[in-house]
Amino acid sequence: MTEEALALYVVPTPLGHLGDITQRAIEILRQVPWVAAEDTRHSGPLLRHYGCNARLLAAHQHNEEDAAQQVVARLAAGESVALVVDAGTPGISDPGARLVARVRAAGYRVVPLPGPCAAVVALSAGGLGEAQFLFYGFLPSKAGARSEALRQLTHLPWTLVFYEAPHRIVETVAALAEAFGPERTLVIARELTKLFESIHSCPLGEAGDWLLADDNRQRGEFVLLLSGAPPVDDRAEGARVLKLLLDEGLPVSQASRLAHLITGAGKKALYQQALRLKG
Ligand code: SAM
Repeated sequence: MTEEALALYVVPTPLGHLGDITQRAIEILRQVPWVAAEDTRHSGPLLRHYGCNARLLAAHQHNEEDAAQQVVARLAAGESVALVVDAGTPGISDPGARLVARVRAAGYRVVPLPGPCAAVVALSAGGLGEAQFLFYGFLPSKAGARSEALRQLTHLPWTLVFYEAPHRIVETVAALAEAFGPERTLVIARELTKLFESIHSCPLGEAGDWLLADDNRQRGEFVLLLSGAPPVDDRAEGARVLKLLLDEGLPVSQASRLAHLITGAGKKALYQQALRLKG
């Protein structure tokens, strides 16, 4: 590699289908002398498949600081490194963030390559049609922590994106239904880019039964997309809050001003409504 190209390259790899890798990613993997891999036994055969003969060093969740030092040492020796994880994009519910930060702090370039990411693949075919989304990744595995995490998400108007493993999918979908109610739309995207890929969309209240109806539906890797909280009707909410404030004995002007500030409903309309309610 030329001196100008000295860098840590962040290289996404396929989620399942071996054809899902970019030309540029293959070129980088063939050029670099080192690849830092989440699991060297897993990535070794994959890299050889693409004609990459680089030496491997381990960079997983439990040795990321140590791996970062090794990567910085390689860069200091003038050797570029590519970072890969088992599948998809490094740093997305996977190791990578700390290593990238250390390398940049040491003054070396970090070059990201675009490529497969399960969340983005699911969103592209989920059909929920909302412009904004929030990537959450894996929910906590313990029931208490999970329901607390979900409680903080219930009012958000954006599509929520979760990752889930097969042994927890039924439990997690039940927890979602409990936290968000039956009406929202859930997209269950399973085994994306693989032989048994399926993308199923249904009301959240029906999702548990759908999963239980066939054991195969609980197998593989999952992305869950949940439609956001429906928009609150400002006027209805304004009227509700206004009535509460008047019932508490607040004067008309103060109650209508507060109802406007709390709900965003029109100030003037609230004031007139308050006058009417007060007779
Ligand atoms: N870094 C990866 C990415 O860019 O998407 C994610 C890695 S995370 C450790 C693994 C999780 O990603 C799986 O449990 C699953 O939720 C999701 N995932 C990965 N591959 C998938 C696939 N082919 N279909 C559906 N979900 C997948």
